[in-house]
Amino acid sequence: MMTENPTPSVVVVGAGWAGLGATDHLVSQGYDVTLLEAGAYLGGLVAGWQTTAGRPVEAGIHGFWYPYKNIFELVDRLGLDPFTPWTRSCQYSPQGLEAESPIFQDQPRLPMPLGTFAYPRFPRLPLQDRLSAFSMMYPVIDFDNSDQAWQRYDAMTARELFKSYGVSARLYREAFEPMLLVGLFAPGEQCSAAAALGMLYYFILAHQPDFDVVWCRGTVGEQIFRPWCDRITAAGGKILTQRPVTDLQLDEQGQVKAVLCGEERFTADAVVFAVGISGFQKILRSSSVLQQHSQFRNLMNLGAVDVLATRLWFDRQVTVPQPANACFGFHPTTGSTFFNLNALHDDYRHQTETVIEADFYHANQLLPLGDQELINLVQQDLATCIPGFRNAQVIDASVIRLPRAVTHFAPGSYQYLLPASTPINNLFVSGDWVVNRHGSWSQEKAYVTGLEAANHVINRCGQGQPATIIPVEADEPHIQIARGLNQFLRGIESNLIPRWGLP
Ligand SMILES: Cc1cc2nc3c(=O)[nH]c(=O)nc-3n(C[C@H](O)[C@H](O)[C@H](O)COP(=O)(O)OP(=O)(O)OC[C@H]3O[C@@H](n4cnc5c(N)ncnc54)[C@H](O)[C@@H]3O)c2cc1C
Repeated sequence: MMTENPTPSVVVVGAGWAGLGATDHLVSQGYDVTLLEAGAYLGGLVAGWQTTAGRPVEAGIHGFWYPYKNIFELVDRLGLDPFTPWTRSCQYSPQGLEAESPIFQDQPRLPMPLGTFAYPRFPRLPLQDRLSAFSMMYPVIDFDNSDQAWQRYDAMTARELFKSYGVSARLYREAFEPMLLVGLFAPGEQCSAAAALGMLYYFILAHQPDFDVVWCRGTVGEQIFRPWCDRITAAGGKILTQRPVTDLQLDEQGQVKAVLCGEERFTADAVVFAVGISGFQKILRSSSVLQQHSQFRNLMNLGAVDVLATRLWFDRQVTVPQPANACFGFHPTTGSTFFNLNALHDDYRHQTETVIEADFYHANQLLPLGDQELINLVQQDLATCIPGFRNAQVIDASVIRLPRAVTHFAPGSYQYLLPASTPINNLFVSGDWVVNRHGSWSQEKAYVTGLEAANHVINRCGQGQPATIIPVEADEPHIQIARGLNQFLRGIESNLIPRWGLP
């Protein structure tokens, strides 16, 4: 416990959801916080900016799902009103419309997973294929997000998991794999089964309304990050962009005393890293301090996935049935989504041109293409789904390539992920890839891990109140009973049968 410094100084590295979450809470508790961001914009993967023609763009459009309780609470606390109403969605393949989802919270509530199964409309997928999804109920119950559950399922690929439980090939190809490509940014044979179970449970299965989603009525940068950062700086936080952190300096006790950005030095009583995996690996390459610890060196075993974000302005109105749409089967091992921004963003609501955001996940093989080739490809895909795009003219476009941008939850990666506390006891880590037990994913997880890192700093420095973190909604009663029974039987099994096989 440190008490000698009346105003402890904290350096936070990285200005995405995690870094801003940590900064915001520590500033509110009277800490002297400096947030260092390598890039020119705030928001990390959710950053937005304007094109040279003054058009707002962002690094991919971001949805906010029903269970994002901590982000919704933040937005309320900031007095913002950034979101659309809950939206419906469609799914397309090159054969046409494949699925249409309702707003689940508007339907009579059924015990999970019956609502998820019963309410979407699948014009092509036969009932027998859909019924094969129920065979997945055992692993869904067995995977309770504990360390043991991650160890049991992480070495297996998601594809092997679905195969071994008898999910039909068609259901896997047309429903589960597209969800993995959009939720974990990778095809099933490249995803950890543990990550697949955790992600699907959080976004789709745990409670009927969980798949409901809202979007910002403009870029997230403008609608949330700008007012949030203004609030942080008004409260005394310092936010510095174009400050890529390169190393740390330790004192005689082996604790961080300063953070280095090349020649610049920032003293600190505690440090929060809130950088993605590629960012961490880059710091590690230049940091003789981090290189001393195997936990940090092991991060070099982790991967990240390429993503592509495009925005196209068309010369005419094209009717798009739903604002949010997912696609599969257009490019092998790549998932994509497209959004009608006229329906989502206030600025485009009454325009005669149509504005479409089309994002591609696991887009490795697309990134080398030139802008015009990518624009042609996007228009071609759009026209396959909605023929009205075939003759529309693209009058402007933005193409944003995001190489190695998002966390790759590859099979076997869990062992290398870090918890918030590190071998350097005043250095904490946060971000959507950090191990915690909250149960959330993506933006909500990044924000929650930022608050958790702030709470570690508070615990260490002994100043201020910890942030309140809203837990994910409890499992439904029948799932609680099934999980309790499963744990009981697993306990008996492990006492009676000596463990000799692989987990
Ligand atoms: C196209 C796309 C679509 C997505 N869609 C959704 C969605 O619909 N819903 C959802 O919830 N999530 C979505 N995500 C995922 C979501 O963006 C991430 O989970 C979340 O933003 C991660 O936040 P973070 O704070 O952990 O990391 P990041 O946002 O990656 O922030 C890390 C920051 O650290 C900075 N940094 C790196 N190295 C250094 C250094 N050396 N010094 C200083 N700073 C450094 C980076 O520049 C960056 O600003 C999507 C992601 C992409 C790319």
